[in-house]
Parts: sequence; structure tokens; C-alpha cells
Amino acid sequence: MTTTVPSTPGPSTTGPGKAVLVTGASSGIGEATARLLAAAGHRVFLGARRADRLAALAEEIRAAGGTADHREVDVTSLESVQDFVRAAHESYGRVDVLVNNAGVMPLAVLEALKVDEWNRMIDVNIRGVLHGIAAVLPVMREQGAGHVVNVASVAGHRVDPTAAVYCATKYAVRAISEGLRQESRDLRVTVISPGLTRTELTDSIDDLDMRAVADEMMAIAIPAAAIGEAIVYAVNQPAEVDVNEIVIRPVAQG
Ligand code: NDP
Repeated sequence: MTTTVPSTPGPSTTGPGKAVLVTGASSGIGEATARLLAAAGHRVFLGARRADRLAALAEEIRAAGGTADHREVDVTSLESVQDFVRAAHESYGRVDVLVNNAGVMPLAVLEALKVDEWNRMIDVNIRGVLHGIAAVLPVMREQGAGHVVNVASVAGHRVDPTAAVYCATKYAVRAISEGLRQESRDLRVTVISPGLTRTELTDSIDDLDMRAVADEMMAIAIPAAAIGEAIVYAVNQPAEVDVNEIVIRPVAQG
């Protein structure tokens, strides 16, 4: 399934805006979020493995008058995420917000024993988020302020067949976020839990029958920009206001 998101509008505010790092910015929710953040006047730093897509998006944002840079990152590697954060810090002099958005969802019943896929979900969806936190926390503590936005899912609120491991990773994201929130007096922590959203996520499902079922469910999906708007809302709140969780579903999802 391909992503369709509106083209980049120009920035709506003046001033430097926040330095916002977005993982998984090469498609779907991350891409839409980066466009909207840039349009709201924030300086975005884009990360994912497909650097060609990041470069094209950064160029598009700059052409619209926004501020964007990018660097290839694999969130399963702590070193790669630390390099990503260091590069952003060098570019913008601050790390105000990290949007931990990269994720994969290769659905299958447990009985299929797709252990490699279980491990990939754990590596990207849980370790990736932890690596992001590990890389930004020292910088944010030093700054005395920062904001971590973790993209979980409605799958972090309920378990369904074929999604046991995916749900487990998203429950974990919510648990980690809640722990970080409780331990912090200087950081804002937001969990974004989308329902069915039109992106490339089902491309990570190997089983073609399973992918067809998932694509059929996506018929009612909402645009990725609907999730991006929620992230921009959380980022744009006053410094003392911490939006802790937003759940956004298609009306028809039930
Ligand atoms: P997409 O497949 O469109 O985007 C996923 C992004 O994650 C891509 O940019 C991909 O980039 C990146 N990514 C995957 N693996 C890695 C990696 N190892 N290192 C760095 N980046 C990686 O799907 P979505 O936009 O839907 O997914 C974004 C988030 O939203 C995920 O966490 C997903 O679980 C969550 N979500 C999505 C829902 C939906 O219905 N679409 C519902 C609920 C939650 P690249 O391949 O270039 O590295």
C-alpha cells in the first residue's frame, strides 16, 4: 500500500521553532508528521534507513521554506541512533523533541513460529524506542527540558489474533513511556496510539493471505496526517503542559 500525504505547505510561524527528530520519517506517519511539524515552523531532522526518501522529503520541506535535514538511521542499533541524535544536535544546537515513530508489523499467528519476525518487532518497536530514549536523555537532562513522543498503537490497548507479538511491543512502548513520565520532572512524555492509518505498514507482512486481510481492514483507514496533527498538537502545548496520551481511530473502526 502506498502513502498519500498532501504536499508540504510553507511554515506558518516565524523564529527557529523546536528541533524535532523524527524516526521512520521515510513514509507514512513519520513522513506526514515531519511535513506538518515543518509547516508549523519547527526544524525537523529526519531518520530512517531509506536515505533517498529522506533526502527528497528534506528537499521538499526546504523548497517550501521550512528547515529540514536528514541522516540514515537503523533504530535497532544503539550506535546508529546515537550518531543520528549527535548529527541533529550538531545541525540545530538542541534536541527539543524526539518522535520515536519507526515500527514494523509483520502479523502472523504464533503457531506459524515466525521467530525472526518476533525478534524484528522486538528490535525495532521496543529496542528502537529505548535506543532513542538512551540517545536523547543525556542531552535533554543537560538542557533541563525535552519532549519524547512515542508512537504506540491501539494494539497497545487490546490484543487481537495474529498480533500477539506486535501488541506486546506496543504495550511495552506504553509501559516504557509511563515509566519515563513518572521518573521525569523536566521532560514531557507523550504516547500517540493510532488506529488503522493509511501507510506502508502492511508491506512488512510476509504472509500474502494475511497481508490481503490487513489491506482489506485498511479500507476504513484514516490519513497519516490525522496522526501527525495530534503530534503537532502535543509538541505545540506550553512548556508546562504534558499531553500524556492521545488515541486516534477511524470512526468506523469500532
Ligand atoms: P510505515 O511502514 O509507512 O512507516 C514505518 C517507518 O519505520 C518507515 O519510515 C521505515 O523506514 C521505518 N523503519 C522500519 N524499520 C526501521 C529501522 N530498523 N530503523 C529505522 N527506521 C525503520 O508505517 P506507519 O507510518 O504506519 O508506522 C509508523 C508507526 O506507527 C509504527 O510504529 C507503527 O507501529 C505505528 N502504527 C501504525 C498504524 C497504522 O495503522 N498504520 C496503527 C498504529 C500504530 P525505512 O524502511 O526507510 O527504514
